Amino acid sequence: MSNWENNVRKVVPYVPGDQPQYPDMIKLNTNENPYPPAPGVAEVLKNLNADVLRLYPKPDAHELAAAIAEECGVDFNNVFVGVGSDDVLGTAFLTFFKGDLPVLFPDVTYSFYPVWAELYNIPYETPALDGNFRIKKEDYYKPNGGIVIANPNAPTTIAEPLDFIEDIVKHNKDSVVIVDEAYVDFGGETALELTRKYENLLVVRTFSKSRNLAGMRIGFAIGSEKLISYMMAVRNSYNSYTMTTPSILCGEASIKDKAYFRKTVDKITATREKAVPELQKLGFTCLDSSANFLFATHKTVPAKEIFTKLREKHIFVRYFDKPRINNYLRITIGTDNEMQQLYAALSEILK
Ligand code: PMP
Repeated sequence: MSNWENNVRKVVPYVPGDQPQYPDMIKLNTNENPYPPAPGVAEVLKNLNADVLRLYPKPDAHELAAAIAEECGVDFNNVFVGVGSDDVLGTAFLTFFKGDLPVLFPDVTYSFYPVWAELYNIPYETPALDGNFRIKKEDYYKPNGGIVIANPNAPTTIAEPLDFIEDIVKHNKDSVVIVDEAYVDFGGETALELTRKYENLLVVRTFSKSRNLAGMRIGFAIGSEKLISYMMAVRNSYNSYTMTTPSILCGEASIKDKAYFRKTVDKITATREKAVPELQKLGFTCLDSSANFLFATHKTVPAKEIFTKLREKHIFVRYFDKPRINNYLRITIGTDNEMQQLYAALSEILK
């Protein structure tokens, strides 16, 4: 009998939302942006000379990191770029969390955090959100090996103000605090300015949501030069060329088009504000959203049943069969037209 499997690293992976492929579907299940990327991105792809792909990309993703630095008002050395914010967060977990004390993040938050913790053998604890799905900041005042807060939180959609985040950072001078701002552009307050003041604060962002580029896989972190150089050293210890040449150039084009960014973000937040009363009319309650999605529960019909019936109509939303949130639906904000079709389907299902 062979024993090779004894030496295999066995993990329970993160399960991303479905990517169904129906021509008639309405896809509101993975918080993608319903609008195309900035026009400059299509230009880059049209004009890309395939010969540039013969060469390795710049390991520091130069044009992209420089454009991000300018946009965020920081130096080039304060920027870390990765293959989506999942890559950035995974690298940050590997870099900053190696102590014996538990890393802390809420019980209801982005479900990739416990997966990275398990993968890297990082001890962790998950303080419970309160009855209104709010983070209790006092839970983060005790000794720990690091802290991760998604703000706005996912899937709850709730954002905490900047002074709340600063308070947590102030109480944790001896560990790295990561603030995952995947959804901040849709209504949250960014902690970017605090990265100048606190050497141990890392802010993580993505191009997948507010920059309409989930398929290009671009994420980044902003932090002190020290934090970023530790992450670079870890990244360069397993893969120096994470960003492809097309992703560097498309990301740069996207970040330079501020007007398009503003326009699409505003369209999505306007659709979200109209969606809340529409869903209320149908018997739903939504948590107060600062993101490009809603977290909604129905007063009588179980979430799982609504999820299944919507899926039969090729309308995809996200359902988590997990304690505390198993009667909620996470609904990504689509175009106005897609949302109208959602309301029509829901009113049929609920009648
Ligand atoms: N953080 C949060 C809170 C998210 O919801 C997501 C999206 N799944 C990510 C990070 C990762 O997104 P991406 O890797 O596309 O940047």
